Amino acid sequence: MTTPSAPPPTSDQVTDYYSALGPLLRMAWGDNLHFGYWEGPGDGSSPQEATDRFTDLLVSRLGVGAGDVVLDAGCGIGSPALRLASLTGARVVGITISPQQVEQARELAREAGMAERVEFRYADAMDTPFEAESFDAVLAFESIVHMERPTALREMARVLKPGGRLVLTDTFPPDGGSQERDLSGDVASMARLEEYPDLIAGAGLALDELTDVTDHTKFTFTRVIDGILRCRRDFEREHGISVEEVLDTLKPAHPQVSALGGAPQVGCLVAVAHKPSAAEAASSAR
Ligand code: SAH
Repeated sequence: MTTPSAPPPTSDQVTDYYSALGPLLRMAWGDNLHFGYWEGPGDGSSPQEATDRFTDLLVSRLGVGAGDVVLDAGCGIGSPALRLASLTGARVVGITISPQQVEQARELAREAGMAERVEFRYADAMDTPFEAESFDAVLAFESIVHMERPTALREMARVLKPGGRLVLTDTFPPDGGSQERDLSGDVASMARLEEYPDLIAGAGLALDELTDVTDHTKFTFTRVIDGILRCRRDFEREHGISVEEVLDTLKPAHPQVSALGGAPQVGCLVAVAHKPSAAEAASSAR
């Protein structure tokens, strides 16, 4: 059984959310719009190191190299896609439903001299313009939280070549709590860890790995707040708006995030799946 979910946010809601949060997040956290991955409480890695480490962990699971083409579904401002391309030699197509992010990501690709190999475009990951079986792998890094999961997974499965891998992260209530206790406002919702095997199978994919990485990612919220407090003077000087005002604009999206107060606990999972080849699908149907 999958949990019934609210309709996914519109492109405008996602764009507004990231344009309200983006400048503060970039200053306080960096260009990776995802959780950090720490070895444990004593790990003093910076946000940049911890978020890059999480990217590397997912890249290692994609199993791609030069000659492969990867879809980054929900690419943010492109930092993970650029890292993926430079680590593996693969080509990457990053998509987002925020036109602003497309521009920012293209700018980062140009600055990195990688615009030839890493392309960014506006597209909805639940209904992409790509032909079936056009990608060797798909990455969805903390983006499915904004989507209707079964629809998004079916679309990712459609564009994957047989044998190709899907690697994603998602959030869930760490204590197995109910939907009411999740972070979902208008723009994001959590999944349930237990529903993942069915979600993946429902999209016609074979689940290879489902890992709860919360013990590594749970430091994220407090470190984001530390980052915000560290940069608040510079931010307020540069943008002429207080940090509280920015956080207030996010309240409808994250009702539990009270300004600089309590940090919510959110579980994080990594799922790795592949699209069965015709032979594999036939033998498992037997
Ligand atoms: N993967 C990036 C960004 C994560 S933030 C990173 O790790 O840095 C979530 C991203 O998903 C944002 O870029 C947001 O615009 C994008 N997104 C949300 N809904 C989407 C949809 N339906 N189709 C494509 N992208 C979407």
